[in-house]
Amino acid sequence: MVIVVGAGFAGVEAAWTLASRGIKVRLYEMRPHQTTPAHTSEWFAELVCSNSLKSQNPDSPAGLLKSEMAALGSLVLATAREHQVPGGEALAVDREAFGAAITAAIRSHPLIEVVEEEWTPDRLGSEPTVIAAGPLATGPVSRWLAEVTGKRHLHFYDAVSPTVEAASIDRTIAFAQSRYDKGGDDYLNCPFDKESYEAFVRALVDAERVPLHAFEAGGVRDGESFGEEGFYEKVKYFAGCMPIEAIAEKGERSLAFGNYKPVGLTDPRTGRRPYAALQLRPENNEKTLYSLVASQNRLRFGEQKRVFRMVPGLEQAEFVRYGVIHRNTFIDAPGVLTPWLELREVPNVFVAGQLTGVEGYVESAAMGIWAGLAVSERVLSARDMSLPPRPTSFGSLLSHLQDQTEREFAPMNINWGLLPEPDPRPKAKADVRAFRLAAARAAFEEWTGSMPTS
Ligand SMILES: Cc1cc2nc3c(=O)[nH]c(=O)nc-3n(C[C@H](O)[C@H](O)[C@H](O)COP(=O)(O)OP(=O)(O)OC[C@H]3O[C@@H](n4cnc5c(N)ncnc54)[C@H](O)[C@@H]3O)c2cc1C
Repeated sequence: MVIVVGAGFAGVEAAWTLASRGIKVRLYEMRPHQTTPAHTSEWFAELVCSNSLKSQNPDSPAGLLKSEMAALGSLVLATAREHQVPGGEALAVDREAFGAAITAAIRSHPLIEVVEEEWTPDRLGSEPTVIAAGPLATGPVSRWLAEVTGKRHLHFYDAVSPTVEAASIDRTIAFAQSRYDKGGDDYLNCPFDKESYEAFVRALVDAERVPLHAFEAGGVRDGESFGEEGFYEKVKYFAGCMPIEAIAEKGERSLAFGNYKPVGLTDPRTGRRPYAALQLRPENNEKTLYSLVASQNRLRFGEQKRVFRMVPGLEQAEFVRYGVIHRNTFIDAPGVLTPWLELREVPNVFVAGQLTGVEGYVESAAMGIWAGLAVSERVLSARDMSLPPRPTSFGSLLSHLQDQTEREFAPMNINWGLLPEPDPRPKAKADVRAFRLAAARAAFEEWTGSMPTS
């Protein structure tokens, strides 16, 4: 029997991987009786924010990771593909149908027992345990991790984009087009001219922001407790999740060159590229809801309505969800985890998902699969599983989690930069990428060819 804590992206994959190899699993999930500040449903693997699982182009790092996961039997990917909604190159899903299907698959597996309770560390026993409690793990889990990992427990922010009703978008202004016409016309674009852009940026920067919640304001870092003030000093935003008002504060044109860059777009009303463009992506199959791409923020809800209604095309927008801010918890993996995701100081306890220091639904799910494989091998043959080779995307994520270079360890998505460079490096970027993909595919095939069959 293996204990898995949390039925999020990593937990369901770990449980599924173990059960698929004939191992009994007891899966603890506290929802719906107790919830987190971000989850709102009873579904396992709930998509707490975007409904996108990122690119499925096989020649991108995210697509490469997906192909490796699929080959390893990923439940998340198989279910996502069944409940896919239009999203251009991205694998976007109908969040309700996806969550319901994952939950049904797990609940009906004969080797998985679901316990609807909060797991606390006093339950640790002799069975192998996989902690996949996510970036919003409960207090007892976070505190215990902080204790056993020494001074390595951090908190910081993630920010979420708002969602609007499709019918409230002014289609005489917002136009359907993907950048460079790649990936269909699933995206809508709200085109700014210089004047409307500058007015929007001024309003954004001046708007009132949400104060920190108590649960976010306090934290432990490097062994010290700190309050709200300290948090603001120490908090680190991810590039991908930095609130747009913080980006806008860096310079008037920073959004026009970043989140709202207009490249590859032509406004049919003017026949020209807009000054800047806010993109909207469908949130469901029926395309009745659209989320504001890369518009995560921490403004007060009333302020969000006022400021985003200044965007051309959104003057009458009806908001069904506002941007919010959340805590993110992760451990300093290079110092505290083995490559099999086992806590160095507490043998037989494994950590999976975002808690390990990867970032994203898919990456978290991937680290759930890896924890499941590593524990399976331990249980079935008392051995350590052969590690995924460095050139693979699994190997690259693990290399991030094991990289001992002196640095401020921060969560990471799969990206080109994680895949190893050819030596010598060809001049053309396309050749470098082609090398990385080919090396990853060859290494993955060799690795899985040598794996014990399930
Ligand atoms: C607000 C927010 C928005 C995010 N938005 C995105 C996004 O748009 N795109 C993206 O790719 N990633 C996003 N992420 C990052 C991350 O990919 C997701 O949080 C992902 O769900 C992490 O997977 P996980 O399995 O590690 O944790 P989760 O999916 O959060 O799963 C953890 C599970 O453990 C349960 N749990 C927690 N503590 C206990 C306990 N003690 N006992 C029993 N059960 C417990 C929780 O209820 C939850 O079901 C976001 C994160 C946050 C916090």
